[in-house]
Amino acid sequence: MYRLTSCAVILAAAIACRPTPEKSSAPPPAAASSSPESSRKYLLEQIDDASVVQLYADQFAALPLREKTLIWHLSQAAIAGRDIYYDQKHRQALEMRRVLEAIVSHPTGIDPAALAEIQRYTKLFWINSGPYNNLTARKFVLKTTPQALSAAARAAAGAGATFPTQPNESLDQLLTRLGPMFFDANVDAIVTNKTPGPGKDILSSSANNLYSGVSMADLKGFTEKYGLNSRLVKSSGKLSEEVYRVGGRYDKEIRQIISHLEAAIPFATEPMANALRALIQFYKTGEDADRVKYDIAWVADKASPVDTINGFIEVYLDPRGIKGSWEALVFYVNKEKTDRINKFAANAQWFEDHMPFDAKYRKADVKGIVANAIDVVVETGDSGPVTPIGINLPNDQRIREEHGSKSVSLANVREASDNATPASLRTEFSWTPEEAERTMKFGALAAELHTDMHEVIGHASGQQASGFKGTPQEAIKEFFSALEEGRADLVGLYFLGDPKLAELGIVSAADQDAIVRAEYEAYTRNAIVQLRRVREGTQIEEDHMRNRQMIIRWLMANTKAIEQRTRDGKTYLEMTDAKAFRDGVGKLLAEIQRIKSEGDYAAAKKLFETYGIHFEAPLRDEIVKRVDSLNLPSYSGFVMPRLAAVKGGDGAITDVQISYPMDLTTQMLEYAGLSK
Ligand SMILES: [Zn+2]
Repeated sequence: MYRLTSCAVILAAAIACRPTPEKSSAPPPAAASSSPESSRKYLLEQIDDASVVQLYADQFAALPLREKTLIWHLSQAAIAGRDIYYDQKHRQALEMRRVLEAIVSHPTGIDPAALAEIQRYTKLFWINSGPYNNLTARKFVLKTTPQALSAAARAAAGAGATFPTQPNESLDQLLTRLGPMFFDANVDAIVTNKTPGPGKDILSSSANNLYSGVSMADLKGFTEKYGLNSRLVKSSGKLSEEVYRVGGRYDKEIRQIISHLEAAIPFATEPMANALRALIQFYKTGEDADRVKYDIAWVADKASPVDTINGFIEVYLDPRGIKGSWEALVFYVNKEKTDRINKFAANAQWFEDHMPFDAKYRKADVKGIVANAIDVVVETGDSGPVTPIGINLPNDQRIREEHGSKSVSLANVREASDNATPASLRTEFSWTPEEAERTMKFGALAAELHTDMHEVIGHASGQQASGFKGTPQEAIKEFFSALEEGRADLVGLYFLGDPKLAELGIVSAADQDAIVRAEYEAYTRNAIVQLRRVREGTQIEEDHMRNRQMIIRWLMANTKAIEQRTRDGKTYLEMTDAKAFRDGVGKLLAEIQRIKSEGDYAAAKKLFETYGIHFEAPLRDEIVKRVDSLNLPSYSGFVMPRLAAVKGGDGAITDVQISYPMDLTTQMLEYAGLSK
């Protein structure tokens, strides 16, 4: 149903409010470790505004052999399908990638300046799974000449590289054919264009390969049988569906995926084996009835320690929101972090009974929202190298209502994001070295706890006033989302400072004050740092950003918890009084709960218009200047762990070893089968 704030967005938020330093470059330990090593490297490199971050799966090595073997086969299935997503992005994306990979894997004799530019472009191409920036949906191009590309390709061919030429096509003809995609920003400029302007068609204006020659007008009167899993093609005036299945489109990749899934089944729990068998059946037939059976089997498996998502899932690439992009994730449950989430869920009623709002708005029988914290081992297609940080599936609303859904929080992705954030941001917006230090030590943990409470006890809490009719969404209208996100944030901020957390063993009593302070300081700083994301105008539109500014500006106006200071012409927000901050949070939460429970639209509007939406342009300009001078990334691509199966004499897997490539190029060439 939803994909928790795509990582790009969250990472921007994480950068804004939870800076932690780049760590020194010691290699990671090979041994299993339940807690992340503080000395290892996360941020590997930065290409334009994209960072490359190493992902770690610390508990993998300690898993039983059966689970490791299962993960191995599922990972092979994940890698087997990744070309599908490239092809869905653009009809020439795979050919482009093969040209680039042929060159960068045979660099000898290429002009250094041309090679450097081809490497830059290729890395962006890999991170974004094609030539389109995943934040803006716009095409990026090679900043060299066609002649330089051609010379580089000829040098690579001379060194033994093979190129994806068609029958009777020369290398130069291939490059000429792909030239407009490599060099002309105006050819197929936008991959998904939902608002192409008046009179223009969303399908014709979008460059993706989910459709060929089709416009919205063609769809009138056409019955689509394979909405999620087909490419829709118009030829000679007729529409047809190329179904993604065995014997259909992507036959070769799908057969490979199936063979790896079949190899995985003997190592899976019975509920998971059921789901894998159903998935194989769906890949074979492509029929929606089989997709439904698979969704039901997948959601029924709530307890397996290993799980996978593999198939045509999310629909953001399609401007119509119908066709599924291929993706795969393989992950295991992070027990330590899941136990913590479960502690909040198990004590949800205690938190509800102690909410700082009117007792009549508290639920008598509250259920915490349950989610698993997971560590991903591999993500491909629409999930990697750029990854979400939380996922809730399946998307089929009828199945959600009848059978429920599964929510996962990608714990090791969050950890790596936090740790990859450059140290400069931490120091730039902290008033004192102590504040920067506290963020470094406790910021990541504080943010995790806050997020857990936001999700598990925040959104689940509260009830409507007796006699209230309709839904709070209908009553609060355009301010509802920001109000609800603010409410959940406030629940987290409030209970972070409650002794109950130490009593439950969730934090150590000795550290709690510092953890609370680190979070309050980070949340406060974020109110100005986040302005870097609104480069035009003087209004915030995004709901999470609105709620965060509203909370801090309300506290500034109504408590003595925060001071605005300047030093050397730079603005700082300094959280000076944690007790006043928490008291204020309790008061604001009481009022926001009242607004929601009563459906008080006028009060919601006034609250956001006073505190949450408007800001001063000069302050934003100052922040943008400071952030830009730090050259911060705006999104990240992740290098996945590498698995290697160790086989005994009979061919059976005796161990699966995990290591960390620490290099995007190495991993991408390995995935493409080009590593040496
Ligand atoms: Zn939320």
